[in-house]
Amino acid sequence: MTATDTRPADFIRAIVAEDQATGKWGGQVVTRFPPEPNGFLHIGHAKSICLNFGIAAELGGRCHLRFDDTNPSKEEHAYVEAIRRDVAWLGFDWGAHEYFASDYFEQLYAWAVTLIQAGKAYVCDLAPDEIRAHRGTLTEPGRDSPYRARGVDENLDLFARMRAGAFADGTRVLRARIDMASPNLNLRDPVLYRILRATHHRTGDAWCVYPLYDYAHPLSDSIEGITHSICTLEFEDHRPLYDWLLDALGIHHPQQIEFARLNLSHTVMSKRKLLKLVAEGHVRGWDDPRMPTLAGMRRRGYTPAAIRDFCDAIGVAKRDNTIEMARLEHAVRTDLNAVAPRALAVLRPLRVVIENYPAGQVEWLDGANNPEDPAAGTRRIPFGRELYIERDDFMLDPPPKYFRLAPGREVRLRFGYFVTCVGVETDPATGEVTTVRCTFDPATRGGSAPDGRKVKGTLHWVSAAHAVPAEVRLYGHLFAVADPEADAGDFLDLLDPHGLEILADCRVEPSLAAARPGDRFQFERLGYFCVDADSAADRLVFDQTVGLRDSWAKTQAGSGGV
Ligand code: ATP
Ligand code: MG
Repeated sequence: MTATDTRPADFIRAIVAEDQATGKWGGQVVTRFPPEPNGFLHIGHAKSICLNFGIAAELGGRCHLRFDDTNPSKEEHAYVEAIRRDVAWLGFDWGAHEYFASDYFEQLYAWAVTLIQAGKAYVCDLAPDEIRAHRGTLTEPGRDSPYRARGVDENLDLFARMRAGAFADGTRVLRARIDMASPNLNLRDPVLYRILRATHHRTGDAWCVYPLYDYAHPLSDSIEGITHSICTLEFEDHRPLYDWLLDALGIHHPQQIEFARLNLSHTVMSKRKLLKLVAEGHVRGWDDPRMPTLAGMRRRGYTPAAIRDFCDAIGVAKRDNTIEMARLEHAVRTDLNAVAPRALAVLRPLRVVIENYPAGQVEWLDGANNPEDPAAGTRRIPFGRELYIERDDFMLDPPPKYFRLAPGREVRLRFGYFVTCVGVETDPATGEVTTVRCTFDPATRGGSAPDGRKVKGTLHWVSAAHAVPAEVRLYGHLFAVADPEADAGDFLDLLDPHGLEILADCRVEPSLAAARPGDRFQFERLGYFCVDADSAADRLVFDQTVGLRDSWAKTQAGSGGV
């Protein structure tokens, strides 16, 4: 969308804008983001957060953060805190509008009683598998429960006793009385309440009947005065039930609007699967940098701005599709390129001795902190007789087109001098090169030769005497295949065994000694890296955020895609 283009960016914004124009909701816009606190938020949730909070912010409305905590067996307070932290980190503020569906339990119960009184709900004694068997299929109608005709008084009495704890778990449910022959299975007398003895993270043991999501959700929306209840496509078939319940009760009736959920390649977004990865130790935790969780992405060095840009760029549609992980990485790289300070770091060190450089002498060279941002200034980088370069920046017997260091070859050291390889030392046992011996040309300080001669390669390096040891964790994809959800087998078999590589003996320039967890850098020629939470005063640990090569931008060359 250009500055002069005032069309809404997507069909949901178009609906909301139209409603504002017609005054449908008295000019109000109230949305909500309703996570169930049964896991950490992932990048799919970010799409929903950006949409709900974004629309509210753009149109002068508000967005509620509502914890949809109606299933006590899977929910925990720790998840509530993680969700708050992640939404705030993404840059959104729900102000005073934090709600819990569990705060509505009393009201939800009272409305269930209202439905019973109106003959619109009944207590059913069928076992769960019998209810399933009675439901029918897409091609066959369902069959009435033998308890469907129960009278109002008996239903009221049984429901009260369900609440009072008179019956065992799973022995009775409350069902809506709608239509067992409906072509929509969700309308075939759906279950509204079940008996479950489980300690709830907020209400403790006060309740032994809990409302189902399809019942609690529309009513919670109504209580909060939501105008547009935006959800993912799989709820399209549930909308008739959403509407039926609110009509049956005659209460404030938000409009449910569905959009296509975000699917991302090389990862999974199912909370059940993510929980399994965490619980069984396949990853280091919810915030493992390989995880698609916001906590994982934060730890890995992704910025909130990059994630918001990504969510804006992929847009909102009505049809499911899968977005390339490379596109998210492109957004991260684009943002970090503008803001991340540069640094010199050597991941696999190879010792270099500059024979004609005086032992003990140190020179402080100036390095630009960020060529994209002159205001970022410069820093001082020590240079001396002994350096480390990247092991793969040297080859004894280089193939054609290898422009880095090799015997007899001259290259530039970034911010420093031209150096020429004049010999090597090798390990007699393995033949491995242990030291590269060079000479430098003092006339090339700053990286160019007065006689105009050129070199083809520029290497990054660190001073051996000054460099700080560090651990660097390199990451690939969590899954080795692009679509782990498509495989019918065990998704764990598809985990990428090379998803994590730990380099324990790296060296970084001394200015990084003061870096703190969360600080992000571009290691020149290597990519973007973020200081990991495992770092301590005497131990620097970096996570690889994203490499420098942009496979997304490449495939989009000329098409102007973000
Ligand atoms: P589950 O219901 O399996 O626990 P969920 O992913 O639906 O998982 P919720 O906590 O219910 O998790 O989701 C909160 C909100 O985020 C919902 O409105 C949901 O529609 C939205 N959401 C979840 N996953 C995605 C996704 N991949 N893309 C867009 N929105 C999503
Ligand atoms: Mg859900």
